[in-house]
Amino acid sequence: SVPLSFFGGIGAASRIGVLVKGSNYLEAMSEMRTIVFDKTGTLTRGDFRVSGLYPAGRTEEELLELAALAESYSDHPISRSIAAAFGKNVDTGRVQNVEEISGHGIKAEVDGKTVLAGNEKLMGKFGISIVRAEQAGTIVYLAENGRFAGTVVISDTVKPEARDAVAQLRDAGVRREVMLTGDKRSVGEAVAAELGLDQVYAELLPEDKVDRVEDLLKMQSGKDKLAFAGDGINDAPVLSRADIGIAMGSMGSDAAIEAADIVLMDDDPRKIAATMRIARKTLRIVK
Ligand code: ADP
Ligand code: MG
Repeated sequence: SVPLSFFGGIGAASRIGVLVKGSNYLEAMSEMRTIVFDKTGTLTRGDFRVSGLYPAGRTEEELLELAALAESYSDHPISRSIAAAFGKNVDTGRVQNVEEISGHGIKAEVDGKTVLAGNEKLMGKFGISIVRAEQAGTIVYLAENGRFAGTVVISDTVKPEARDAVAQLRDAGVRREVMLTGDKRSVGEAVAAELGLDQVYAELLPEDKVDRVEDLLKMQSGKDKLAFAGDGINDAPVLSRADIGIAMGSMGSDAAIEAADIVLMDDDPRKIAATMRIARKTLRIVK
Protein backbone atom coordinates (compact mmCIF):
# COMPACT_ATOMS: atom_id res chain seq x y z
CA SER A 1 0.00 0.00 0.00
CA VAL A 2 1.02 3.58 -0.59
CA PRO A 3 1.95 5.49 2.58
CA LEU A 4 -0.43 8.34 3.28
CA SER A 5 2.18 11.08 3.15
CA PHE A 6 2.91 10.26 -0.51
CA PHE A 7 -0.53 11.69 -1.19
CA GLY A 8 0.57 14.72 0.83
CA GLY A 9 3.56 15.04 -1.51
CA ILE A 10 1.43 14.71 -4.63
CA GLY A 11 -0.96 17.28 -3.14
CA ALA A 12 1.88 19.68 -2.36
CA ALA A 13 3.13 19.33 -5.93
CA SER A 14 -0.35 19.96 -7.34
CA ARG A 15 -0.60 23.14 -5.27
CA ILE A 16 2.43 24.53 -7.13
CA GLY A 17 0.96 23.47 -10.47
CA VAL A 18 2.81 20.18 -10.92
CA LEU A 19 0.85 17.04 -11.76
CA VAL A 20 2.63 13.89 -10.50
CA LYS A 21 1.01 10.77 -11.96
CA GLY A 22 2.10 8.38 -9.18
CA SER A 23 3.95 8.19 -5.88
CA ASN A 24 6.74 6.14 -7.49
CA TYR A 25 7.67 9.20 -9.58
CA LEU A 26 7.97 11.29 -6.44
CA GLU A 27 10.38 8.70 -5.04
CA ALA A 28 12.34 8.71 -8.34
CA MET A 29 12.51 12.54 -8.29
CA SER A 30 14.29 12.39 -4.93
CA GLU A 31 17.04 10.34 -6.63
CA MET A 32 17.36 12.37 -9.85
CA ARG A 33 21.01 12.88 -10.84
CA THR A 34 20.73 13.58 -14.57
CA ILE A 35 18.34 15.90 -16.35
CA VAL A 36 17.98 15.97 -20.12
CA PHE A 37 16.14 18.93 -21.61
CA ASP A 38 14.68 19.33 -25.05
CA LYS A 39 15.44 22.89 -26.20
CA THR A 40 12.45 24.29 -28.00
CA GLY A 41 9.49 25.10 -25.76
CA THR A 42 11.25 23.66 -22.72
CA LEU A 43 14.26 25.96 -22.21
CA THR A 44 13.22 28.47 -24.86
CA ARG A 45 9.84 30.10 -25.16
CA GLY A 46 9.10 28.47 -28.48
CA ASP A 47 7.52 31.72 -29.66
CA PHE A 48 9.64 31.96 -32.76
CA ARG A 49 9.61 35.20 -34.72
CA VAL A 50 10.77 35.78 -38.27
CA SER A 51 13.85 38.01 -37.95
CA GLY A 52 15.31 37.90 -41.46
CA LEU A 53 14.29 37.27 -45.08
CA TYR A 54 16.89 36.60 -47.77
CA PRO A 55 15.09 35.92 -51.07
CA ALA A 56 16.71 34.48 -54.19
CA GLY A 57 15.15 35.57 -57.50
CA ARG A 58 11.98 37.01 -55.92
CA THR A 59 10.87 39.68 -53.45
CA GLU A 60 10.85 39.29 -49.66
CA GLU A 61 7.03 39.28 -49.73
CA GLU A 62 6.99 36.51 -52.36
CA LEU A 63 9.47 34.45 -50.33
CA LEU A 64 7.39 34.82 -47.17
CA GLU A 65 4.20 33.88 -49.04
CA LEU A 66 5.90 30.78 -50.48
CA ALA A 67 7.02 29.77 -46.99
CA ALA A 68 3.56 30.47 -45.52
CA LEU A 69 1.91 28.34 -48.21
CA ALA A 70 4.33 25.43 -47.81
CA GLU A 71 3.98 25.52 -44.00
CA SER A 72 0.21 26.11 -43.97
CA TYR A 73 -0.72 22.57 -42.90
CA SER A 74 1.90 22.28 -40.14
CA ASP A 75 1.50 23.41 -36.54
CA HIS A 76 5.22 23.29 -35.74
CA PRO A 77 6.31 26.45 -33.85
CA ILE A 78 8.36 27.38 -36.95
CA SER A 79 5.25 27.20 -39.15
CA ARG A 80 3.22 29.28 -36.73
CA SER A 81 5.88 32.01 -36.70
CA ILE A 82 5.93 32.13 -40.50
CA ALA A 83 2.12 32.38 -40.59
CA ALA A 84 2.25 35.19 -38.02
CA ALA A 85 4.88 37.12 -40.01
CA PHE A 86 2.88 36.71 -43.25
CA GLY A 87 -0.16 38.02 -41.39
CA LYS A 88 -2.76 37.09 -44.00
CA ASN A 89 -4.73 33.91 -44.56
CA VAL A 90 -3.22 31.75 -47.25
CA ASP A 91 -5.34 29.99 -49.85
CA THR A 92 -4.68 26.41 -48.79
CA GLY A 93 -6.37 25.28 -52.03
CA ARG A 94 -3.04 26.14 -53.70
CA VAL A 95 -1.24 23.58 -51.54
CA GLN A 96 -1.26 19.83 -52.11
CA ASN A 97 0.55 16.62 -51.12
CA VAL A 98 2.06 18.02 -47.95
CA GLU A 99 4.68 15.83 -46.31
CA GLU A 100 6.10 16.79 -42.91
CA ILE A 101 9.53 15.17 -42.70
CA SER A 102 10.37 14.99 -39.00
CA GLY A 103 13.57 16.79 -37.99
CA HIS A 104 13.88 18.16 -41.53
CA GLY A 105 10.89 20.27 -42.59
CA ILE A 106 8.18 20.27 -45.24
CA LYS A 107 7.75 19.07 -48.80
CA ALA A 108 4.60 20.23 -50.59
CA GLU A 109 3.13 21.09 -53.98
CA VAL A 110 2.37 24.82 -54.19
CA ASP A 111 0.60 25.96 -57.38
CA GLY A 112 1.74 22.66 -58.84
CA LYS A 113 5.42 23.30 -58.08
CA THR A 114 7.44 21.21 -55.65
CA VAL A 115 8.38 23.36 -52.67
CA LEU A 116 10.75 22.44 -49.85
CA ALA A 117 10.91 24.38 -46.57
CA GLY A 118 13.33 23.21 -43.93
CA ASN A 119 16.89 22.90 -42.71
CA GLU A 120 20.17 22.11 -44.41
CA LYS A 121 19.54 18.39 -43.91
CA LEU A 122 16.33 18.66 -45.95
CA MET A 123 18.08 20.57 -48.73
CA GLY A 124 20.87 17.96 -48.73
CA LYS A 125 18.34 15.14 -48.99
CA PHE A 126 16.96 16.68 -52.20
CA GLY A 127 20.30 17.82 -53.60
CA ILE A 128 19.52 21.55 -53.46
CA SER A 129 22.56 23.85 -53.39
CA ILE A 130 21.93 26.69 -50.98
CA VAL A 131 23.46 30.01 -50.05
CA ARG A 132 24.27 29.51 -46.38
CA ALA A 133 22.67 32.15 -44.14
CA GLU A 134 25.06 34.11 -41.91
CA GLN A 135 22.48 35.49 -39.47
CA ALA A 136 22.17 33.71 -36.12
CA GLY A 137 18.97 31.79 -35.50
CA THR A 138 16.97 28.87 -36.76
CA ILE A 139 17.21 28.82 -40.53
CA VAL A 140 14.47 27.71 -42.92
CA TYR A 141 15.73 27.25 -46.46
CA LEU A 142 13.21 27.37 -49.30
CA ALA A 143 13.43 25.66 -52.66
CA GLU A 144 11.03 25.65 -55.61
CA ASN A 145 11.20 23.01 -58.35
CA GLY A 146 14.68 21.96 -57.27
CA ARG A 147 16.11 25.47 -57.09
CA PHE A 148 17.08 27.49 -54.03
CA ALA A 149 14.45 30.21 -53.41
CA GLY A 150 15.79 31.95 -50.32
CA THR A 151 16.11 31.84 -46.56
CA VAL A 152 13.83 32.72 -43.67
CA VAL A 153 15.62 33.29 -40.33
CA ILE A 154 13.68 32.68 -37.15
CA SER A 155 14.68 33.65 -33.64
CA ASP A 156 13.50 32.11 -30.41
CA THR A 157 14.33 33.43 -26.94
CA VAL A 158 15.49 31.62 -23.82
CA LYS A 159 12.83 31.51 -21.09
CA PRO A 160 13.75 34.10 -18.45
CA GLU A 161 13.37 31.50 -15.68
CA ALA A 162 15.48 28.80 -17.43
CA ARG A 163 18.81 29.98 -15.98
CA ASP A 164 17.49 29.78 -12.41
CA ALA A 165 15.93 26.41 -13.20
CA VAL A 166 19.33 25.01 -14.18
CA ALA A 167 21.08 26.45 -11.09
CA GLN A 168 18.35 25.26 -8.71
CA LEU A 169 18.54 21.72 -10.07
CA ARG A 170 22.27 21.72 -9.44
CA ASP A 171 21.64 22.89 -5.85
CA ALA A 172 19.09 20.10 -5.45
CA GLY A 173 21.76 17.49 -6.28
CA VAL A 174 21.53 17.04 -10.06
CA ARG A 175 25.04 16.30 -11.37
CA ARG A 176 24.58 16.26 -15.12
CA GLU A 177 22.47 18.71 -17.14
CA VAL A 178 22.16 17.97 -20.83
CA MET A 179 20.27 19.54 -23.73
CA LEU A 180 19.08 17.75 -26.86
CA THR A 181 17.90 19.57 -29.96
CA GLY A 182 17.04 19.06 -33.58
CA ASP A 183 18.22 22.59 -34.20
CA LYS A 184 21.63 23.65 -35.55
CA ARG A 185 24.77 23.16 -33.46
CA SER A 186 25.46 26.92 -33.28
CA VAL A 187 21.98 27.62 -31.87
CA GLY A 188 22.21 24.71 -29.39
CA GLU A 189 25.65 25.73 -28.16
CA ALA A 190 24.62 29.37 -27.68
CA VAL A 191 21.64 28.36 -25.53
CA ALA A 192 23.68 25.80 -23.53
CA ALA A 193 26.39 28.40 -22.82
CA GLU A 194 23.83 31.01 -21.78
CA LEU A 195 22.26 28.58 -19.30
CA GLY A 196 25.42 26.87 -18.02
CA LEU A 197 24.50 23.35 -19.14
CA ASP A 198 27.13 20.57 -19.08
CA GLN A 199 26.49 19.04 -22.48
CA VAL A 200 24.59 19.68 -25.69
CA TYR A 201 23.72 17.32 -28.53
CA ALA A 202 22.42 19.16 -31.63
CA GLU A 203 21.09 18.35 -35.12
CA LEU A 204 19.34 15.27 -33.74
CA LEU A 205 16.46 13.43 -35.33
CA PRO A 206 13.71 12.26 -32.95
CA GLU A 207 15.16 8.70 -32.94
CA ASP A 208 18.65 10.10 -32.15
CA LYS A 209 17.18 11.67 -29.02
CA VAL A 210 16.12 8.21 -27.79
CA ASP A 211 19.65 6.88 -28.48
CA ARG A 212 21.29 9.74 -26.55
CA VAL A 213 18.98 9.11 -23.57
CA GLU A 214 19.78 5.37 -23.73
CA ASP A 215 23.51 6.20 -23.58
CA LEU A 216 23.02 8.56 -20.64
CA LEU A 217 20.91 5.94 -18.83
CA LYS A 218 23.81 3.48 -19.16
CA MET A 219 26.14 5.99 -17.49
CA GLN A 220 23.94 6.14 -14.38
CA SER A 221 24.87 4.11 -11.35
CA GLY A 222 22.82 2.37 -8.66
CA LYS A 223 19.63 4.15 -7.72
CA ASP A 224 20.44 7.29 -9.69
CA LYS A 225 17.56 8.47 -11.85
CA LEU A 226 17.41 10.32 -15.16
CA ALA A 227 14.64 12.75 -16.10
CA PHE A 228 13.79 14.04 -19.56
CA ALA A 229 11.82 17.28 -19.94
CA GLY A 230 10.20 18.10 -23.29
CA ASP A 231 7.08 19.28 -25.01
CA GLY A 232 6.84 18.02 -28.58
CA ILE A 233 4.95 15.24 -30.33
CA ASN A 234 8.35 13.83 -31.26
CA ASP A 235 9.36 13.78 -27.60
CA ALA A 236 6.85 11.09 -26.57
CA PRO A 237 9.26 8.12 -27.08
CA VAL A 238 12.00 9.84 -25.02
CA LEU A 239 9.53 10.81 -22.31
CA SER A 240 8.57 7.14 -21.95
CA ARG A 241 12.18 5.88 -22.08
CA ALA A 242 13.51 8.17 -19.28
CA ASP A 243 13.12 7.12 -15.62
CA ILE A 244 11.01 10.26 -15.20
CA GLY A 245 9.32 11.97 -18.17
CA ILE A 246 8.40 15.61 -17.58
CA ALA A 247 6.12 17.43 -20.03
CA MET A 248 5.26 21.09 -20.42
CA GLY A 249 1.52 21.31 -19.74
CA SER A 250 0.41 24.38 -21.66
CA MET A 251 2.79 24.29 -24.66
CA GLY A 252 3.02 20.53 -24.74
CA SER A 253 1.40 18.30 -27.33
CA ASP A 254 -1.28 15.85 -26.15
CA ALA A 255 1.09 12.98 -26.98
CA ALA A 256 3.79 14.44 -24.71
CA ILE A 257 1.38 15.06 -21.82
CA GLU A 258 0.03 11.51 -22.20
CA ALA A 259 3.51 9.93 -22.25
CA ALA A 260 4.81 11.99 -19.29
CA ASP A 261 4.99 10.95 -15.63
CA ILE A 262 5.01 14.54 -14.41
CA VAL A 263 3.38 17.58 -16.04
CA LEU A 264 4.37 21.20 -15.37
CA MET A 265 1.03 22.95 -15.85
CA ASP A 266 2.58 26.40 -16.45
CA ASP A 267 5.74 25.26 -18.34
CA ASP A 268 8.02 26.85 -15.70
CA PRO A 269 11.20 24.70 -15.59
CA ARG A 270 12.00 25.95 -12.05
CA LYS A 271 9.14 23.74 -10.87
CA ILE A 272 11.32 20.67 -11.55
CA ALA A 273 13.68 21.56 -8.68
CA ALA A 274 10.70 22.57 -6.55
CA THR A 275 9.21 19.10 -7.11
CA MET A 276 12.53 17.49 -6.13
CA ARG A 277 12.43 19.41 -2.87
CA ILE A 278 8.85 18.28 -2.20
CA ALA A 279 9.88 14.70 -3.04
CA ARG A 280 12.78 14.77 -0.55
CA LYS A 281 10.58 16.16 2.20
CA THR A 282 7.91 13.55 1.53
CA LEU A 283 10.45 10.72 1.57
CA ARG A 284 11.83 11.92 4.91
CA ILE A 285 8.30 11.79 6.35
CA VAL A 286 7.60 8.34 4.91
CA LYS A 287 10.88 6.75 6.03
P1 ADP B 1 13.58 20.64 -31.52
O1 ADP B 1 14.47 19.47 -31.23
O2 ADP B 1 14.30 21.93 -31.31
O3 ADP B 1 12.27 20.55 -30.78
P2 ADP B 1 12.38 19.62 -34.02
O4 ADP B 1 12.79 18.19 -33.85
O5 ADP B 1 10.93 19.95 -33.92
O6 ADP B 1 13.25 20.62 -33.08
O7 ADP B 1 12.91 20.12 -35.44
C1 ADP B 1 14.28 20.04 -35.73
C2 ADP B 1 14.62 20.93 -36.90
O8 ADP B 1 13.94 20.45 -38.09
C3 ADP B 1 14.17 22.37 -36.73
O9 ADP B 1 15.12 23.15 -36.04
C4 ADP B 1 14.04 22.79 -38.20
O10 ADP B 1 15.31 23.11 -38.72
C5 ADP B 1 13.54 21.55 -38.90
N1 ADP B 1 12.06 21.55 -39.00
C6 ADP B 1 11.20 20.72 -38.37
N2 ADP B 1 9.93 21.00 -38.71
C7 ADP B 1 9.97 22.05 -39.58
C8 ADP B 1 8.98 22.80 -40.30
N3 ADP B 1 7.69 22.58 -40.18
N4 ADP B 1 9.42 23.78 -41.11
C9 ADP B 1 10.73 24.06 -41.25
N5 ADP B 1 11.70 23.39 -40.59
C10 ADP B 1 11.35 22.40 -39.77
MG1 MG C 1 10.71 19.82 -29.79
